[in-house]
Amino acid sequence: MTYDDSNVFAKILRGELPCHKVYEDDKTFAFMDIMPRAHGHTLVIPKSAATDLIDVSPETLCDTVRTVQRIAPAIRDSMEADGLLIQQFNGAAAGQTVFHVHFHIIPRFEGVALLPHAGDMGDPEVLAVNAEKIRQAIEAA
Ligand code: 5GP
Repeated sequence: MTYDDSNVFAKILRGELPCHKVYEDDKTFAFMDIMPRAHGHTLVIPKSAATDLIDVSPETLCDTVRTVQRIAPAIRDSMEADGLLIQQFNGAAAGQTVFHVHFHIIPRFEGVALLPHAGDMGDPEVLAVNAEKIRQAIEAA
């Protein structure tokens, strides 16, 4: 599949769409999922163009997973989560809806079911509060 730079994550990277950013370095970017499956649901993406795990270069994949590992504890601790689900979809048949490779970091709480994938929009105020908590935890780490 050819990379289409009109996808929403490409627009977020170019600053054409707003997001609740929690982390950025020269290679990667992390922000709140707008339709969270749980409190603190965060997405990690590379800044360079790639549709999925097959398309992305090994180096960029490593950069992206390094960021997942780097910010995961801050997400878990700031959300007071019991665990973290890391999800990654490849292709529409697998559930991928945005064709810029990304990892989901989804806090899990004992006894709390996941909301549907790409379901309802999150409350913008809650997204902003959670993003601030996660940002502070990352900075403090
Ligand atoms: P996928 O289904 O491709 O693995 O996941 C795409 C994710 O992007 C979904 O969880 C969906 O909620 C999220 N998403 C879709 N559009 C936007 C958007 O405009 N902003 C943000 N922050 N997340 C989005």
